[in-house]
Amino acid sequence: MYIARLLFPVKVLGPGNRIGIWMSGCGHKCAGCSNPELWEQREQQRVTLENLKKMVDPIFENYEVDGVTLTGGDPFFQAGDLEELLAYLSVKTRDILVYTGYEFEQIRQRHSNLLQYISVIVDGKYIEELNHGTALRGSDNQKIIFLDESYRERYAAYLEQGPGRIQNFAMPDGIVSVGIHLPGYEKKLKQKAKEKGLEEMQNG
Ligand code: SF4
Repeated sequence: MYIARLLFPVKVLGPGNRIGIWMSGCGHKCAGCSNPELWEQREQQRVTLENLKKMVDPIFENYEVDGVTLTGGDPFFQAGDLEELLAYLSVKTRDILVYTGYEFEQIRQRHSNLLQYISVIVDGKYIEELNHGTALRGSDNQKIIFLDESYRERYAAYLEQGPGRIQNFAMPDGIVSVGIHLPGYEKKLKQKAKEKGLEEMQNG
């Protein structure tokens, strides 16, 4: 499978302290996408499930993990590997949130076998004109779908914290800014990075 990034604790893509996994590969090519560098799958991003487990297992063993968020890219772009990954993760946590550029109905028709592992899906392409900084959703056309109704309350409490929650991770090659960014945020981000002498900044 192709994994571009794994971060913990992510606090701005779902409730609690979450493991965030960015899967590369996406064919939707939404205008204004904040992660176009993840549209292509690169050889250096290729990882076996066994090796990924070596990164994820210690996090679960040493920290309190409230859930996992899978994003990208579009995780369903590599549906076969996603199924393996979900089967493994679902043993570790029941709160698995997955972002996809497909509509839920398309996922239901093509990948219904994967839905048993997922508690919440945020579906639909990103439409920049509909980005009003709403919590959890990149644009207002996207839907938050609860496949496990028991998580509705937990997510409602998270959503009440409001929009615009951004978290910056300092990485060896620069800063990764995670969360739902408003249009034009990248320009400001790059300016900030330049001021701090960091040339590389990425969104997540
Ligand atoms: S689905 Fe997500 S990653 Fe893919 S192009 Fe749209 S916004 Fe970007």
